[in-house]
Amino acid sequence: MTRKLTPAARKSPSAVTTRVPAPKPQTPPDLDTARFAAIIDEHIADVRRKIDSVLADIREVTAAAKDTPADDEHDPEGTTVTVERANEMSMLAALEASLAEMLLARVRLDDGVYGICERCGEPIPEARLEIRPEARYCVACSAAARRH
Ligand SMILES: [Zn+2]
Repeated sequence: MTRKLTPAARKSPSAVTTRVPAPKPQTPPDLDTARFAAIIDEHIADVRRKIDSVLADIREVTAAAKDTPADDEHDPEGTTVTVERANEMSMLAALEASLAEMLLARVRLDDGVYGICERCGEPIPEARLEIRPEARYCVACSAAARRH
């Protein structure tokens, strides 16, 4: 799902305007969008590197599994490979979700609707955005959302 989103979101983020034309809160005028663009791009590059690394690991584990018998029950080595691959797969899923969040943050930035809490409409503090540039909610709303 995230793979399909990736090229489109990167190439033409503002071309996709099939959304409802509701009045949207705008990026706070005092927010340094260039700086956050750089921060987000760095995160995107970082997550992509991690994804590549996990994919390489999965390939390695898969290749190694071919050399070992598939009989997990009697082969402790085989079990390790299965567990390892499962771990890699869940890591990959987490990274892809994180990449999607980062790409969406980049789209919001390009669309001029970045740094605004999607729940209460208040600006998200820059200090929070620096730590979590993909944040869509302020701290209070994020905590409230988690309780649901
Ligand atoms: Zn909020």
